[in-house]
Amino acid sequence: MSTGLIIRSTGSWYDLRSEDGHIFHARLKGKFKIKDLKVTNPIAVGDRVQYDVEDEAENTAIIYDIEPRENYIIRQSVHKTAHGHILAANLDQAVLLATLTLPRTSLGFIDRFLVAAESFRISTTVVFNKTDILNDEGLDYQREIQDMYERIGYNTLATSATEGDGVEAFRALLTGKITLLSGHSGVGKSSLVNAIAPSLDLRTNEVSTFANKGVHTTTFAEMFELAPNTFIIDTPGIKELGLVETSKEEIAHYFPEMRDRLNQCRFHNCLHINEPGCAIKAAVEEGTIAESRYYSYLSMMEGGDNRR
Ligand code: GDP
Ligand code: ZN
Repeated sequence: MSTGLIIRSTGSWYDLRSEDGHIFHARLKGKFKIKDLKVTNPIAVGDRVQYDVEDEAENTAIIYDIEPRENYIIRQSVHKTAHGHILAANLDQAVLLATLTLPRTSLGFIDRFLVAAESFRISTTVVFNKTDILNDEGLDYQREIQDMYERIGYNTLATSATEGDGVEAFRALLTGKITLLSGHSGVGKSSLVNAIAPSLDLRTNEVSTFANKGVHTTTFAEMFELAPNTFIIDTPGIKELGLVETSKEEIAHYFPEMRDRLNQCRFHNCLHINEPGCAIKAAVEEGTIAESRYYSYLSMMEGGDNRR
């Protein structure tokens, strides 16, 4: 038996990459045991599996077992009681691509993504693309935003896919890893990927590659190999990457700069909204927690939609 990596799922068939880079068309053994009963799909992109070659000439293989997942992202069914769907497993990191203009990525959207990634225990780098179209004032603002996220502990990067700025750093960021690449349509995901892996030739400006396909359409993710052992994952509907079964009390734990201060609030069940003796509000007033982050927090507590 050999170990392989699932790089594409189409429902009952999977594309499986062997350790030496061969791609097999694989399916599950008849009596395959689903290990996690709370999800609808037994295997997802990023899963490492045990398999045997079935037919050498036909490139087919049978999957016998799945290795324990280090992490995974799941999309909850719209019906709260129904089972969720695993979008991808074993991610080394997430990269959120943002642009301050054309299109504008709001800080609320960035924060919501960061919180979701924290809840899945996936570390995130925020990459600000299209720096070439910012004037001095815009660049200063971007530097401020980057500093704000860096202070919290997030890695950030500034790039211009068209000018080539930061492209080598972007390559270094992805090399040797499985990365969930996310961001609004039009921020330059295809352009940046093409800049570091031209042979992949992702179509820019095209809805079919990296764009968000709504909840009703296909839910199958795909992994692209940019260089040996360097993969990016594109999952349709990643904008729905939401918090799964998160209670209001938990949300502050997914803000790293709040996490350490939570036990300093006067009330142990403080929600940091308008309780007296709240250490979080004090830190916001003092300026040690950024106002924009606190607003994002409040918006998430209201269940408000700040995804746009
Ligand atoms: P995606 O939807 O995130 O994959 O975005 P695309 O890569 O398709 O890029 C959307 C548009 O933005 C295209 O017209 C690109 O040429 C343009 N674009 C991408 N990156 C940059 C950049 O760094 N600077 C500028 N000025 N335009 C860019
Ligand atoms: Zn508090």
